[in-house]
Amino acid sequence: MTSTLPRAPVHPLLAFYLISPLFDRREQLGLIIALVLSESSDTAPYASGRLLTDHLNSVRLIEDSKTEISQTPRLRYMNGRSYYRWIIDLAERSSLKIQYTPGHSKDHTLETQMNNEADFLASSSQKIYKDIPEIWPPTFHMNQFTFYSPTDGWIESNIPHYVDLRLAQQTITSLSHGHSQRMSTWAHDDTPPPEYPYLKAVSAHSAAVQLYARSGQLATADILKKRNQLEDDKCRLGCDATETPRHLFVNCIKYQEWRDESLKEVLDRTELKLATFEIVGDTKENIMAAAKSLFIDSSIWPLHFSLYYLGQLPNLNILFSENSNINPVQKRRLVSHLAVDWHTSSIRLAGRIFGDFQKRMAVLNDNPYSYNTSNRIPVAFSQWVF
Ligand SMILES: [Zn+2]
Repeated sequence: MTSTLPRAPVHPLLAFYLISPLFDRREQLGLIIALVLSESSDTAPYASGRLLTDHLNSVRLIEDSKTEISQTPRLRYMNGRSYYRWIIDLAERSSLKIQYTPGHSKDHTLETQMNNEADFLASSSQKIYKDIPEIWPPTFHMNQFTFYSPTDGWIESNIPHYVDLRLAQQTITSLSHGHSQRMSTWAHDDTPPPEYPYLKAVSAHSAAVQLYARSGQLATADILKKRNQLEDDKCRLGCDATETPRHLFVNCIKYQEWRDESLKEVLDRTELKLATFEIVGDTKENIMAAAKSLFIDSSIWPLHFSLYYLGQLPNLNILFSENSNINPVQKRRLVSHLAVDWHTSSIRLAGRIFGDFQKRMAVLNDNPYSYNTSNRIPVAFSQWVF
């Protein structure tokens, strides 16, 4: 955050820079606005006025721009270059000394106090961000040729990286429609899943089950029948129902005991977390109700059916009642704890069920654990690969 010395009343223009979603951009805009405002200030031009900022990149660039070495080539590729050019341009014309002050430091110097106050004003303005006017990027300082996207505006970041990101977003959008809602991540909780079972566990079986489930490649009877590899799609474990992944993971009576076991584990852990975070009342009831519905179809789930076996969770943020006293930091921590617990139990249960199912099917096929000599993939797995 940026603050000017000598102290001046806070100008509403300062609020401009708070609305930018990019942290760097907010810091840059803070500097720009302070420099612009200081031009018409009575005190700044005189007697060693100082402009304080905790944005080290800007201060270094301003210092570098005063040396013999031209900054033009460097600025051509920098992220947020138009803002930096604007800052340099304003700094050249200003008599203020632009000085770096470390952010979030604990001493009681005037600089730290000014910085803390600027931080405080910035975070309190988040509450009124809808009322703050929007600022447009400084096109007058952009490269002569700059990419533009109708959704994202002017692109001043690395273009190959940007294209990658857009392609990934497009793929997510096209996958999230249809496909039996297998990729309906948008409707569910967006807390990142725990890394351990995916990246570090020795056996990646649980992750593999989810990968194949999400790709619609699990060798359940409905899929095998569609591919003419089975004549009947009835549950091969004896139920009078179609053998779909949903049936296997959510409804098949053969695995009810395991679901109950996992549910008990989830409820115990959730209760303990709620006690630790001292959550009571409606919020506690909502969270416990959601935990109880983790492995069954219920209105707690955004699409009204459980997708735990795809690594999805119901949206955790909406479980907190409006009058709950939990502060935002604690809330984030609790959501992240719950997401890790629930996610881990879910994928373990899915892995356990499908592991057992595979073994049973291998026995049923009278060919347990034999290997396909051409590609060394176990028979049960080779059914997945088409
Ligand atoms: Zn069944």
